[in-house]
Amino acid sequence: MSLLDQEIKYLAGVGPKKAEMLNKDLNIFTLGDLLYYFPYRYIDKSKFYSIREISLDLPYIQIKGEIKSFLLVGPKRGQRLIATFSDGTGNIELLWFKGIKWIQENLKPGINYTIFGKPTEFNGRINIVHPEVEETQKKSVELASVLHGMYNTSEKMKNAFLNSKAIYKLQQIAWQKASNSITETLPEWMINKLHFLPLAESIFNLHFPQNAEKLQRAEYRIKFEELFFIQLSMLRIKAERNRAFEGLRFPIVGNFFNDFYKNNLPFELTNAQKRVVKEIRVNMNSGTQMNRLVQGDVGSGKTLVALLSMLISLDNNCQSCLMAPTEILASQHFNSISQMLKGLDIQVGLLMGSTKKSEREKLLLDLVEGRLNILIGTHALLEDPVRFKHLGLVVIDEQHRFGVAQRAALWRKNDGIPPHVLVMTATPIPRTLAMTVYGDLDSSIIDELPPGRKPIITAHYRDSKRLRLFGFMKEQIKKGRQIYMVYPLINESEKMDYKNLEDGYFSIMSAFPSPEYYVALLHGKMKKDQKDISMALFKSGKAQIMVATTVIEVGVDVPNASVMVIESAERFGLSQLHQLRGRVGRGGYQSYCILMSGDKLSSDAKKRLEIMVETNDGFAIAEADMKLRGPGDIEGTQQSGMPFDLKLANIAKDGQLIHFSRDIATRLLDEDPELANPNNAFLKQQLDKKAKAKVNWGLIS
Ligand code: ADP
Ligand code: MG
Repeated sequence: MSLLDQEIKYLAGVGPKKAEMLNKDLNIFTLGDLLYYFPYRYIDKSKFYSIREISLDLPYIQIKGEIKSFLLVGPKRGQRLIATFSDGTGNIELLWFKGIKWIQENLKPGINYTIFGKPTEFNGRINIVHPEVEETQKKSVELASVLHGMYNTSEKMKNAFLNSKAIYKLQQIAWQKASNSITETLPEWMINKLHFLPLAESIFNLHFPQNAEKLQRAEYRIKFEELFFIQLSMLRIKAERNRAFEGLRFPIVGNFFNDFYKNNLPFELTNAQKRVVKEIRVNMNSGTQMNRLVQGDVGSGKTLVALLSMLISLDNNCQSCLMAPTEILASQHFNSISQMLKGLDIQVGLLMGSTKKSEREKLLLDLVEGRLNILIGTHALLEDPVRFKHLGLVVIDEQHRFGVAQRAALWRKNDGIPPHVLVMTATPIPRTLAMTVYGDLDSSIIDELPPGRKPIITAHYRDSKRLRLFGFMKEQIKKGRQIYMVYPLINESEKMDYKNLEDGYFSIMSAFPSPEYYVALLHGKMKKDQKDISMALFKSGKAQIMVATTVIEVGVDVPNASVMVIESAERFGLSQLHQLRGRVGRGGYQSYCILMSGDKLSSDAKKRLEIMVETNDGFAIAEADMKLRGPGDIEGTQQSGMPFDLKLANIAKDGQLIHFSRDIATRLLDEDPELANPNNAFLKQQLDKKAKAKVNWGLIS
């Protein structure tokens, strides 16, 4: 066993209690885990501030000075100790809530200390809570490097004195003990060719940077490695799939496709739609199974691309299915596709959880005997009794609602050769992210909206402008338009949210009284037939206003609706806002999106609303979203996940490295798809090792 695998509790200075915290809060179980726990930032410890310069904007400060006096305040429980600290330019308060006794016994006025910590505000004054304190002379001797790593720890850990500095000390001990056991994880040729720092030297510099340049090279190497193994793994999955599964060949573009194209298509395809359909057609006749991601902005016409692909499947004597995340969306796809296929001899079915038993039985029989050509539905499609006669194409709409496992489950709906798979996203996801989490898929992008769409005008109103909003809504209704009003219902079970929705509904009803106006209501807790009635009322134009939750977020299509009012817009994420906005602007009318918000907004919320007002471009919004939130929270990824976790690399910031690592992985696999070449044995071994570690970890947690 390598020393790196030694349990953390045996490290000097840890012990069982701290070990448990390290396990639970930081996922650190072994010395190796600890050495791979890197600082989240570095502080320049050669820089000292004077107290006069201190402001709340500074993330960390280091000052030299003396303690003038101590003051103990507050009741016995909940006491705090305040030290007045001075450096001649001014005073600042140091504050302790815990370990007060120790501080009183060990820190003395009149001695020159170096204080390090984060300026915060408490009781209207700037102070430093629980600062690091050291005698100034001692300090300069101990310092090996001016760049000092800061480690994240939990609140609980800090209270047990397991703070950043304590982790730093543990790193020193762990390094001395186990660094000799660190073995290289990249092949030598790669290190030489790409001028990487060796692994051990990289880890050393991440904890104890010798200088800024070394630190940068260390980060670069570790980031590259993380991203490279993800790309290698994704591309290998892809290559293996292509090898293992023969693909159905669809050589024919025949009557179904052509008749539809000539007679039923109400408009010309956009160039982007044409290009993507062609990519799909070529792919479905290549002899390998298609696994393709179609990305396009809201309203770019992805459904039509899916339909045309399904017709090609039909022309080649195969059935198709289309899976959507909600019943509303599935029904709507069923209705619009049935409508578009009118006059053609194509049988389309709809299968959902709520489908009646007798209907379901007939559907399933028609399906397995091949009388049904296209099956549209929800998760219900995944269930066991659903068998096809000859399934050729699976389309998954709004992929982010489904996981990888569900994608795979649909493959097995066919005996023999697995069907082609087309996956469609609701809104664009940033390119680097798509390359990572969907790195095993081919990708097509619809980067053009159908002509004649007027850009949606977006405005941000504070709640105080509600009367103006109502006035505007009435104007639009007078022009014959319809309006959505969406309330945040992020968690369908939250009572609060329902109250908001209900209050909203009643206030709208009194501002827009019947019989002049009709307000429909739609939310997830309603029964299916109630939902259908509401939807129908709005679709037919009888209801001018639809008060709804985000159930209407995905895909709902009512071209006459021209205003989307989003209540408490600050509570929504960017991609959700964009998706909601996409519900309007679908007809030829000038459309509007009004973002309502409270007066007090966090800076992130303000930024989100600003971005929405600024641009309609879903690709730009996706990029901005990822920069604001970090890649972990981006819709479309949580379900898919990455093969390996990232410790240093950041999908939002390391785009160039992602491209670079993918290039290298592609070239490698082009030459040696199975990594069978002795030269690549080492890489293969590393990859397998990582995959295994990940799987085991998954079982434990
Ligand atoms: P999304 O990509 O968001 O799923 P949809 O497929 O729902 O978009 O299409 C949005 C609307 O645009 C639909 O009403 C559809 O009929 C229409 N549409 C699709 N393609 C075209 C086109 N080439 N020209 C005009 N309208 C189109
Ligand atoms: Mg859609």
